[in-house]
Amino acid sequence: MEFSYWPGMASIRIIGGGLAGSCLAWQLRWRGAAVVLEDDHRDGAASRVAAGLVNPVTGKNYQPSWRIGGFLPEAVAFYRKVEEATASRLWHPLPVVRLVSECEWDKVAGKLERPEVAAWVEQVDEAVAGWRAAVVLKGGGRLDTRRFCEVTGEAFGRMDGPGDSRDVVRCGGAFDLLDGRLGEHRCAKGEILTLAIPGQDESRILVGGGGWLVPIGGGRFKAGATYQWDQLDGRPTPAGRARVEEILQSLGVGDFTLLAHEAGIRPIIRRSQPLIGRIGDDWIFNGLGSKGSLYAPGAARRMAEAIVDGREIEAELDLGRWLER
Ligand SMILES: Cc1cc2nc3c(=O)[nH]c(=O)nc-3n(C[C@H](O)[C@H](O)[C@H](O)COP(=O)(O)OP(=O)(O)OC[C@H]3O[C@@H](n4cnc5c(N)ncnc54)[C@H](O)[C@@H]3O)c2cc1C
Repeated sequence: MEFSYWPGMASIRIIGGGLAGSCLAWQLRWRGAAVVLEDDHRDGAASRVAAGLVNPVTGKNYQPSWRIGGFLPEAVAFYRKVEEATASRLWHPLPVVRLVSECEWDKVAGKLERPEVAAWVEQVDEAVAGWRAAVVLKGGGRLDTRRFCEVTGEAFGRMDGPGDSRDVVRCGGAFDLLDGRLGEHRCAKGEILTLAIPGQDESRILVGGGGWLVPIGGGRFKAGATYQWDQLDGRPTPAGRARVEEILQSLGVGDFTLLAHEAGIRPIIRRSQPLIGRIGDDWIFNGLGSKGSLYAPGAARRMAEAIVDGREIEAELDLGRWLER
């Protein structure tokens, strides 16, 4: 186990054990810091319900995710290292199949020629029933977010002692944003279904019809997700379920058994671009939005370097600068 700190040295207290707090805990430990990781398991915690999908090219504009060239390889290496440390399987690389409708095709086809998009494209299949085409993307996959947070909680509960907390880092996700203490937010509730689907292909992630279907093993899938900007709580609703069922229908899924219907709140400040910094006495790591699996490891590393080594936070991720703008 490669970490070294003096038992009894001042520890860093992380409040919130979702993707942000869990990634930070590892990054701090690997830099020799002692860590206390706290989580009170609130309803609506995003990392507990997320599908963990990493889709390299996303959105209506069909663009590679922000700074993916740096964040994605760092995230995959990070999850592999945690897998080794915890003897668990967390990162599942899978092709992402983007189903494109007739009316989306001209826009998507134009993007496919651009080098920054073409770099992620494995193939384009123009013979797909019910769709104009299927674009198969490489480099994506799924993080088992819930398991990642659980194994991290176990690892830190077991190995690090409390000591005196020198620094406090708030990683409370949407719960730290809803009261407006960090300025305006765009937090969005999301509802998601877990399903058993007999005979459904488990070798790829399907994206289309405004949602996705992500295989999670053993004939089970996560399907989602809704975006709602009111009623920001962790309660699943009949309307949310109906919306995800519409997505399933457009993805061609007919027969399924519902295993779970859950909801969480995405912590959104500036789209899905995380922000880190020190505000008053506390460090803050937030704003992972809809893309925590992709951005949490790299943002956590920068935060750990700032806390342990006093390294300056780069302007683009600096929460202080964002709040002053
Ligand atoms: C339905 C849905 C689907 C999603 N799908 C994907 C996806 O496919 N891919 C992807 O990358 N992202 C996805 N996301 C987004 C992803 O879940 C988030 O980016 C990420 O989980 C945010 O992590 P976080 O640690 O900032 O917040 P959270 O996961 O919400 O964690 C915050 C934690 O802090 C704890 N906490 C808060 N206050 C306190 C306190 N005072 N004391 C102790 N503990 C406290 C809470 O209990 C919670 O566990 C999805 C989100 C939702 C809702």
